[in-house]
Amino acid sequence: MTQVIRTALRVEGIVQGVGFRPFVYSLATGLGLGGLVGNDVDGVFAEIEGPPATVREFLRRLEREAPPLARIERVTTSAMPPAGTASFTIAPSGPAGRRRTLVAADTATCADCLRELSDPADRRYRYPFINCTNCGPRFTIVRDVPYDRPLTTMAGFAMCQPCAAEYHDPADRRYHAQPTCCPACGPRLALLGAAGEPLDLGEPLTGDSLGAAAELLGDGRIVAVKGLGGYHLAADAARDDAVAALRARKHREDKPFAVLAAGLAAA
Ligand SMILES: [Zn+2]
Ligand SMILES: [Zn+2]
Repeated sequence: MTQVIRTALRVEGIVQGVGFRPFVYSLATGLGLGGLVGNDVDGVFAEIEGPPATVREFLRRLEREAPPLARIERVTTSAMPPAGTASFTIAPSGPAGRRRTLVAADTATCADCLRELSDPADRRYRYPFINCTNCGPRFTIVRDVPYDRPLTTMAGFAMCQPCAAEYHDPADRRYHAQPTCCPACGPRLALLGAAGEPLDLGEPLTGDSLGAAAELLGDGRIVAVKGLGGYHLAADAARDDAVAALRARKHREDKPFAVLAAGLAAA
């Protein structure tokens, strides 16, 4: 009879909102181990059950193969009695308590999302709020921990059926990606005037808020860009009149502004 052990572990660091639970799930199921994994206020907790050598391999690979946005600060383990479970489950998030876990920083759009963004056949083609487990907003949208959608600024956007299917599929890149959305269910672009009135700029810009905003920036206007967490005030950095107007209105005569550039070469 093969000996079976069960090890309780706690992982601390940046381990929420970075695909850590699905990573643990696929690592454990791939090794044929039983147990569970979940989020709580301290980070990620898990219980791993199986032959000692396989559990050791799991622990080795846990740190070595962690998802790209994860930062493991500490893993603590303790032995517990085997429960006789061969299946592996993702436990519901633990109750609220003292908050100690870390939340990842916002991360630039990943290569996979950029590919979908420029693919006319993809349902997120040109959708500005595209993201997945490996990229997108994190810190910006968090209101509380554990990091789950109801505690983010995305709580008000109910997922459509295709988004929900991705969110619940452990094999999908968007499994438990809290800010996931699409043109059918997520935030949309709108162009409003200074008084909040919808701007109708006429042909050929009707319906293209992004293009219209770019046109306004090109004309030296200041555009307030509302994102998932707040506003950016934008002006064409190459136009002295636009930058001067922004400085005057913000009362920032000589303090440097952040400059957005497409890449190092452009900067
Ligand atoms: Zn992505
Ligand atoms: Zn959707």
